[in-house]
Amino acid sequence: MKLDFHPAGRHFLQIPGPSPVPDRILRAMSYPTIDHRGPEFAELGLKVLTGIKQVFKTTQPVIIYPASGTGAWEAALCNTLSAGDKVLMFETGHFATLWKKMAESLGIEPEFLGLPGIEGWRYGVDADKIEARLRRDTAHSIKAVCVVHNETSTGVTSDIASVRKAIDAAGHPALLLVDTISGLASADYRHDEWGVDVTVSGSQKGLMLPPGISFNAVSAKAVAASQNARLPRSFWAWDEIIEMNKTGYWPYTPNTNLLYGLSEALDMILGEGLDNVFARHNRLAQACRTAVNAWGLPIQCADPSVYSPVLTGVMTPDGVDADQVRKVIYERFDMSLGTGLGKMKGRMFRIGHLGDCNDLTLMATLAGCEMGLQMAGVKLSGSGVAAAMDFIGSQHVPFQR
Ligand SMILES: *Cc1c(COP(=O)(O)O)cnc(C)c1O
Repeated sequence: MKLDFHPAGRHFLQIPGPSPVPDRILRAMSYPTIDHRGPEFAELGLKVLTGIKQVFKTTQPVIIYPASGTGAWEAALCNTLSAGDKVLMFETGHFATLWKKMAESLGIEPEFLGLPGIEGWRYGVDADKIEARLRRDTAHSIKAVCVVHNETSTGVTSDIASVRKAIDAAGHPALLLVDTISGLASADYRHDEWGVDVTVSGSQKGLMLPPGISFNAVSAKAVAASQNARLPRSFWAWDEIIEMNKTGYWPYTPNTNLLYGLSEALDMILGEGLDNVFARHNRLAQACRTAVNAWGLPIQCADPSVYSPVLTGVMTPDGVDADQVRKVIYERFDMSLGTGLGKMKGRMFRIGHLGDCNDLTLMATLAGCEMGLQMAGVKLSGSGVAAAMDFIGSQHVPFQR
């Protein structure tokens, strides 16, 4: 396929990141690239560094890297830990597994909690398990607890406040590191209130930006830990960046045009209001689940208390290759859906309803899914589209023009 192939209408990018980039943001990104040491730049730098704190709900530093989320994962680990350190991680899905593999490759010793097999990929983090494990660690050899807030491979949003409580209840000094790469600006998140030491996030999910910048929100305890952490780091090192950020600059050339985009995204998100943004995501997620239930297909997340507002994982019936369904939908309706990752390959697809998404975007998405499922020969027990329309029509939405 040629990269300049543009069929009529717009492509439906309904994967859980990258999410569609609004025109407003694309236009903002086309401003001229300016001198990153000049006076104008500091204004932009300070604006985005201040604004992003509101989204993380923190008054502490947020570091912005010109890297994908994976880079910010590495930054969180290498700034706070030393080779041979033990960390506790929780197997919620593919992304938790990738973060664990990264920890191993850096010389950290992760211990993986969770349920065995595919079952573990249907639930959130079990804080009681973490508490019990930390209580047994009387020598305090575990240096950090690392969890994924919104597990993008499954559609499960774990309760981070409960993890903080578990660490405190065990009276354990471990740091709390959280990946909310796909949760930030879509699902409620509170870096300070939940006592998170490092929050990792990225640009291309709820923030509605293209891929290419990522974040570490840090606590005073994390910064203190970085003074003694011995993993090799240079590009990722927090200290020099935090120091220069005070005046709106970076030690290296930052991603100027993505920062224009971030500035615009902050205007959009804070203008709508975080609570309205979360309410919209919750409504769209509930509408999506209403449709999946009407189709009679299982939702990957098996615990309704941790359904993700960002995406919904749909399991296909035995003998139906979920990637074949995705292929039919892509080829016939020009819509991209998320593939099943890792253990779920071919057994599920993921519907993204995050970022620049509204009621009718979701309805079109569900219509494409319903037609595609039928074309792929999946027997549905009813119309998900009709059920979702009934649900959306019944919702009172105060904010509009
Ligand atoms: C997208 C994602 C990542 C990886 O981020 P990249 O930008 O692809 O490096 C990690 N964790 C979660 C939960 C994600 O959704």
